[in-house]
Amino acid sequence: MKPILSIKNLAVSIEDREIIKNFNLEIEAGSIHALMGPNGSGKSSLANTLMGHPRYSVKGGTIFFNEIDITNFSPDKRAKQGLFLAFQYPQEIPGVQVFTFLKEVQRALTGNDIPVEELYDQLCNYLQLLSMDESFAYRNVNEGFSGGEKKRFELLQLLMLKPKLAILDEIDSGLDVDALKVVAHGLAIARKESPNLSILLITHYQRILNYIEPDFVHVMQDGYLIKSGDASLAQAIDQEGYDGIRSTQ
Ligand code: ADP
Ligand code: MG
Repeated sequence: MKPILSIKNLAVSIEDREIIKNFNLEIEAGSIHALMGPNGSGKSSLANTLMGHPRYSVKGGTIFFNEIDITNFSPDKRAKQGLFLAFQYPQEIPGVQVFTFLKEVQRALTGNDIPVEELYDQLCNYLQLLSMDESFAYRNVNEGFSGGEKKRFELLQLLMLKPKLAILDEIDSGLDVDALKVVAHGLAIARKESPNLSILLITHYQRILNYIEPDFVHVMQDGYLIKSGDASLAQAIDQEGYDGIRSTQ
C-alpha cells in the first residue's frame, strides 16, 4: 500500500538556521504515529512545515501527500487535499463564532454549502461527545477558552472536517486525566467514523498513548529523527527519559 504521507530528506530553515535536518518519515493510511522528543527538538516546526507555514522554508527534500508533491503548496491547498493540523497554541479569532467559523471552513474546503440545520446538528452531536455545552457554538473562536477547551475545539474541527491525515501538536498538554479521556474518546470516534484516518500525534508524554496506542513511535532531537520503534519505545522513554533511550541506540 502506498503511504498517505511520505517525507524524504527534508531540510527546513527558519531565518537561515536549520531546524529540521535530513528528515525521513512514511505514514500509511489508517495508522497512528507518535512523534516524541525533548522541547525545542523541532516537532512543532515539522508540523508547521507539513502544513505550509510560510516562515519555515524548505531547503531540501520533498513532501508527498496522497501521492502528490505538496512541498510547495499553500496551506489552503494542503487542507483541501485532506491535511489537518491541531495547533499546539491555537489562536484567538475575535468576533468570529465557533459555528460561523466551522461553516466557513467547511465551505472553503469542500466548495459545498451544507444546510445550516444539518451542520448545526452535526456540531451539537460532536459537542455532546466531547462533553461540551451547546452554547459553545456561539462563543468566539478561542477567546477566553481554557487550555482544555482550546484542545477540545481543535478536536472538534478534526471531527467536523474529516481530514485524511491529522497532525496533533500536543493535544494532550495541560489536560487533566478527565479531559485527556475526553480527547482520547473523541479521537476514537474520529477513527471509527473514518477508518482510513491517519494520525501523527506529537507529544511529550507517554500518558496519552495509554489511551491511543500508536503503531509507531519516533523520537526527534536537534532537528533529527534519532530513533523509531513500536509502542514500547514510548514506555522506555517514560521510564528512562530521552537520555536513557539514546544510550541504547
Ligand atoms: P518542539 O516543538 O519540539 O518543542 P520547535 O519546533 O518549537 O520544537 O522548535 C525547534 C527549534 O526551532 C527551537 O530552537 C526553536 O527556538 C526554533 N523555532 C521554531 N519556530 C520558530 C520561529 N517561528 N521563530 C524562531 N525560531 C523558531
Ligand atoms: Mg512544540
